[in-house]
Amino acid sequence: MGKLEALTGKPRQNQAPVIEWGRGGGAGHADRWVQPEGDSMAERVASCSCGRLTARITGEPARISVCHCLACQLRTGSVFGVQARFRREDVAVSGEARAYTRIPDDGGTITFHFCPNCGATLYYEAEGLEGYYGIPVGAFADPSFPAPRVTVYLDRKHSWVVLPTDVEHES
Ligand SMILES: [Zn+2]
Ligand SMILES: [Zn+2]
Repeated sequence: MGKLEALTGKPRQNQAPVIEWGRGGGAGHADRWVQPEGDSMAERVASCSCGRLTARITGEPARISVCHCLACQLRTGSVFGVQARFRREDVAVSGEARAYTRIPDDGGTITFHFCPNCGATLYYEAEGLEGYYGIPVGAFADPSFPAPRVTVYLDRKHSWVVLPTDVEHES
């Protein structure tokens, strides 16, 4: 008990600053996980790095996947992309976005919408999936976001990446 009193009674040094999302951050960072009163449907907020481009999303993702393809590596700067697919009518975007369209290996087009200020992609749309938006899972900055169930482009996976055992391999 003496130890506890010592810890609580004195100003602590070398303490990391407490960063609270939604307190002094960019617009849209407030209330990343909002549970509306009297409504069982949760609302999630996705944001670019600087917070100027945000999306409020209701409903659960139709699919959450990990993609190891080289285009996702180039886009994210990470060694794989993780994205959640939501119905478009469940996604309300606010803020200015610019678009970049590329043609993937399997044809069609995929258009990425990113913040012109910080460059982070907030959502994208793919030809053939007109009813949906893809949202990078990292944009939720929420470690409790549901895990991916599907993985694609395994042949491009970095050898050290270990996937959950229950994930379904599509290609
Ligand atoms: Zn931004
Ligand atoms: Zn990919």
